[in-house]
Amino acid sequence: MKLICIGRNYAAHIDELKNERPEEPVVFIKPDSAILPKEQDFYIPEFSDDVHYEVEVLVKIKKVGKHISKQFAHKYYDEIGLGIDFTARDLQSKLKAKGLPWEKAKGFDGAAVIGTWVSKDKFKNIDEINFSLHKNGEKVQEGNTALMLWKIDELIAHVSTYFMLKKGDILFTGTPAGVGKVSPNDYLSGVLEGEQLFEINVR
Ligand code: ZN
Repeated sequence: MKLICIGRNYAAHIDELKNERPEEPVVFIKPDSAILPKEQDFYIPEFSDDVHYEVEVLVKIKKVGKHISKQFAHKYYDEIGLGIDFTARDLQSKLKAKGLPWEKAKGFDGAAVIGTWVSKDKFKNIDEINFSLHKNGEKVQEGNTALMLWKIDELIAHVSTYFMLKKGDILFTGTPAGVGKVSPNDYLSGVLEGEQLFEINVR
């Protein structure tokens, strides 16, 4: 399986990193080895001094599809989740400056946190889901899927033009503003519509 990730999908986050607004979604892939095993602590890798959390709404793909139209995209998922796209920002900045791929900064072991899944039937409207990330008990990121530049079904249509989606693939839909550095002994927890879906200890 693969993790398909979207960058720059919230205007306020684009501004905080001083990035340009893209004309179409920014897409990258993390390998399945990036998934942090359940109940395991996150270890800051030795090659970075500036690993950032990025909380993101996740969508689990339930069947194979390609060239999926926006109108039928909702048939390809039943579960919504919450996770973290950990990013070695110092390494990513260096690679970006040279025009090189980001994979080492985004796809390293443990760089993808995947929380508990929630049935999409629980939500009145998936384009209006509140979520937040808390660090040591303090809210550091807050978002709502209504603020996405490209909504979930539009993202599925876009990415399936390039990559065949397979059962079990996971879409990371981009992070809202408020990203920041993690330090050893930080405790992170992610909340979606009032329900805590993951907690992580940083080492
Ligand atoms: Zn991200």
